Parts: sequence; C-alpha cells; structure tokens
Amino acid sequence: MAHNINQLPEDVVEKIAAGEVIERPASVLKELIENALDARATRISITIEEAGFGLIKIRDNGAGIAAEDLPLAIKRYATSKIRNAADLFSISSMGFRGEALASIAAVSRMKITSAVDQSGLGATLSCNGGTVSATAPASHTQGTSIEIRDLFFNVPARKKFMKSHRSERNALLRLVEQLAAAAPSTHFSLQLEGKKSIDTPVAKSLHVRISQIAGTEFGKHLIRSQYAQPGIDCTIYLTPPEMGSAKPRFQILYVNLRRVDSPAVIAAVREAHGAFTSGELKPAFFCFIDIEPRRIDVNVHPTKKNVKFENERLVYKVAYQAARNGLAQLMGHSGDTARTYATPPESSASIAKRPLAIHETPTEEAAYRTARLVSDDTGARQTGFAFPATPDSGKKQLDSPQDNRVQLAGNVQDEVAGLISCYQIHERYVLAPIKNGILLIDQRAAHERILYEQALENLTKGQSESQQLLFPIVLELTPAEKNVAASAQRYFVSFGYEIRDFGGTSVAISAIPSFMKDSAAADAVRTTINTLLDEGDMNRIAEPAHRFSAAFARGAAIRAGQKLETEEMNALLNNLFSTENPYIGPDGRPTVVRISLDELSRRFLR
Ligand code: ADP
Ligand code: MG
Repeated sequence: MAHNINQLPEDVVEKIAAGEVIERPASVLKELIENALDARATRISITIEEAGFGLIKIRDNGAGIAAEDLPLAIKRYATSKIRNAADLFSISSMGFRGEALASIAAVSRMKITSAVDQSGLGATLSCNGGTVSATAPASHTQGTSIEIRDLFFNVPARKKFMKSHRSERNALLRLVEQLAAAAPSTHFSLQLEGKKSIDTPVAKSLHVRISQIAGTEFGKHLIRSQYAQPGIDCTIYLTPPEMGSAKPRFQILYVNLRRVDSPAVIAAVREAHGAFTSGELKPAFFCFIDIEPRRIDVNVHPTKKNVKFENERLVYKVAYQAARNGLAQLMGHSGDTARTYATPPESSASIAKRPLAIHETPTEEAAYRTARLVSDDTGARQTGFAFPATPDSGKKQLDSPQDNRVQLAGNVQDEVAGLISCYQIHERYVLAPIKNGILLIDQRAAHERILYEQALENLTKGQSESQQLLFPIVLELTPAEKNVAASAQRYFVSFGYEIRDFGGTSVAISAIPSFMKDSAAADAVRTTINTLLDEGDMNRIAEPAHRFSAAFARGAAIRAGQKLETEEMNALLNNLFSTENPYIGPDGRPTVVRISLDELSRRFLR
C-alpha cells in the first residue's frame, strides 16, 4: 500500500505533546509553581477562576525572564535549566524538560509578563492556542506574571473528559498545599473563585510550614525523625500511633523537595507504624528524602510524578528506619526491640467500649435508650457505635428476674433467645452458619451498606436522629478539606451532623448522628471528608445524593479491628439483610461471601 503514513501537521503534534504534560488545570498550576520556585521566588500569588478553566494566574518575585528570552520560553524543549544529556543526572531544579510553557501555550490563551530587575521595566508576550504575538515592552516589578485563560478551548475532546469543577478545585487546592508544604521560605497565597483559600507567610522551618497547611493542632503532635545512610537522608514528620486513621490525611513524599509518588515509601512507613498499633490504622506523614541526584532518574514521567531510584530497597530502608526510630523513641522503646504498642489507639479502643452496659447505668435514660435500640427493627441504629447490651448485661437480666430493670425491655429476651451463633474472625469478618452453608461478612463493608441506605432514606425524608454534643469538637482542616466540608454542609445536616465554620480552616462539630459515639465523631467526619476528596471509587459515583451517602457511610461505619459481641453481630446481619442490596457495599465491593454446603463437601472430597 502506498502513502498511508503522513507526517502530522505541527499544530496537531503540539496538541498531542501537550496532552502528556497538561492533563488538567492542576497540572498547569503545578508547572507554573515549579517554574516560580526554580526562579527562587519568595512570594507566589495565585488566582483561580472557574476551577482553572476560566483563569489561572500566577505572579512571582523570582529571577524573571529577559525580553529576548520570552519567545524561547514558550518553545518546546527550550530550557535554561540543563544544557546536555549529562546534566540530566544532576538535576537540582524542578523543571528541565522545557516543555511545560510550550504545552500550556498550545492549549490556552497565555500571557507572560516579566522583568529581570527592579527598574520597573519588563516585557510581555501573548500566545493564543499556539499563535505567538510579538514581544512588547511592559511595566512589571522583578519577577514573572503568567495568565492562562480558556484552558483547552481548542481541545474540545479533552474538555469533555474533564472531571467536574468540584474535583478540579479540590485537585488545585491539594496541589498548592503539597507544593507549599515543602517550600517554607516562600509565601504562597491562593485566591480561589474570589475567596482567599490559602495564605502561608514565610515559615522558619518545614515543621512550621506543615502546621500552616495541616493545622497547628495536627502539627503539635507530629513526630520528627531522621535517618541517614551514605548519599541518602530521610526526614519524616509523622503522626503518633493514637492519631492513626483508616484514611490518613497526608501520605506525602518529597524527593529532593520534588513531590513524587512512591508505593515503596508508603509501605515502609506503614510497616514501621504497624508495629505500634493494630487494625487498619495508618499514620499521616510528610517524608522528605534527600538523595544524590545521580542516584535517581527523574525523567521517567512527563509530569515528573514518579522517580526511579537506583536502589529502591535502600530508600525503603531509610524511610522505614526513620519512621520506626521516631515512633520507638516516642513510645520509650529502643529502636530495635519495640514491638507492640500496648494501649490500642483511642479511635478503636473507645469505639469498642460499650456505651450502654445496662447494669452500669441503671438510669431511666439508659433504660429508654436500651429499649429503643433493642426494639428498633428498622435500621442502622442498632449497629453503629452504640450497640445494644453486651452479653454480660443481657445475661444479668435473664439471671435475676426480680431485677427491676428486666421489664424495661422484654424483647431483649426474645432477641437473646433468637440469636444465631456467629464468630468474629480477626476482628474484621463475621462468620455465620446458615441453612445451606456459611456466610462470611466483611463487618465494615456490611455496616457501610446499612448506613448508606439509611442515609439515602434520611435525604429523601429530610430527617435524621441527631444528638447534641456537650462540648463541640473542633477539627482543623486543610483548605481543600474545608472546601469539601462546606460543599457537603447540607448533606451533613441530613445525616444528623451539625458542623459549623470555626474560623481559619477549622470547623466545629456540635451534633452527631444519634447512633454514633462522641469519640468516634472526629474520625468519622474526617474520613467522610477525605473520601469525598479522594479520587477513589466513591468519588466516581455521579449522583451527589449517592456519593455523599456513601462517603457518610464510610466515615460512620464500624472499622476493622473493632470487636463485636454476638448481639452486635446478629444486629449487623439482620440489618444487612433488611437492606435493598445486601451483597455489595456502596463502593461496589462485596459485603458477603457465601460458601454452600455443596462446595464445602466438594472441598473435603466427599
Ligand atoms: P523547564 O521548566 O523545564 O525549563 P518550562 O517550559 O517550564 O521548562 O519553562 C521554560 C523556561 O522558561 C525555563 O527554563 C525558564 O528559563 C523560563 N521560565 C519559565 N517560568 C519562569 C518563571 N516563573 N520565572 C523565571 N523564568 C521562568
Ligand atoms: Mg518548568
């Protein structure tokens, strides 16, 4: 066949290349911030409109770009940062590929104004989807201003596949948080949709900067630890075991101050942390690895979000040791002998405590609550954190019929009598015999399903059972988290929460769903918010009512690691099988595995 291969026209080539670097508004902003940091800016101010599709504007006070360099700056593979291939192995700047500005220029309307000194005189240049204007003089103080308007205006296909403005805004906020966290000597500010969302004055240390981003309360508890080997040095800031969470707020790694992803480092820190805690609680951390540039390859991904380590095991080891030493010191162990952290962390220990042991609280209120919980056959309230009576208290009632508390809930007895014997396995699964086989239930997934349907119902009915807290719980959030909390406000109310703005980036929780224990509330709200922030399974649920309900359920559900009594397992089973769709969790994962007697027989070769 003849002539089926054509050289693509220049503008198509440009757009294809641009697509690799510029996936979304946050990738534009990432490149622009990194350029400003490379130019040694100490002040970076950012303005975003329409989630970055309307406007991304960034101004810095860095070195600036000379007038004669402006046309080069937006040319592909034009860079001031490396000169030859050998330089690729000693990169100390964020940028080096020389393609960011070219890529952004190809898919937007861009204007750059810059000046290299304090004379007030600089130059400006515009580029309209790849068509470049002449360079013209313009007034500007030292540094660079770049305005990007109408991102992807000439790439309709890309625009169509973009996530919602909501998730773009979250991505932008998180990006600024993450880049700012590693650059304490630069003052960042972000104006998002007309609202000042981030403002971090120059900080005297990484620790102070992390506190600016994540909250001073969070910062106060962080453990700082360091570990070095020849050519590599790791400094980690991580949360102590009692602050572990099922969904940690940060697990962030910087290699030579470049923010990158590394499953190895996450695994290392979790492994170290796992020796001091139980269940599925994970630490939040900021990990900074400094390594000789020649021992890594940063040129393995167009957006530079991964690096390749010459020796990944060594990286794992230093991260592990740094985390472990810090935790061991905190716990008063020596780095090598520490094994278990005796007191389970607050979040799981207190969840496991029975709030309603009848014999302990012979008050009318307790009696009422017990009766209500036990006789309530509709829903989620029987499970959750406040379960019906423990076997102990139940037995006590049965054993002593003259006890005046027996009458309070006659049907406790029915319940107890009708219990099926379940077994909890690894504080995570429930094993229940059924007529033709056995069921294995994932306790957390099952509870999520129950709460999810309950939440959806609350939304349609517009009501939920709520309890006022005596002392509101103040949560420090990041700007991105607070943004989500605000947008979810209406839903939180429907689920029984009362969450108010508490100034800065804090919120105050003053009421929680009635089934929930006070001590579980903070982690529940955080988990819900972070589920909404996360771009995981839950966030792919398009319908907002379903998405928020699923995130609520994820936050409020019992965790793996929580011990359940027989009554609680029975309640869980009953409630699960009263739901519309008992077999899958809100995120689509199974809740139940059923093994039939036939299958068991087969396995035993009968
Ligand atoms: P790279 O950062 O990989 O070199 P870019 O396309 O991001 O490539 O930028 C091209 C060049 O433009 C840079 O090498 C730098 O010289 C210049 N430049 C871009 N942004 C700035 C800025 N904010 N301040 C100073 N110089 C800049
Ligand atoms: Mg760059």
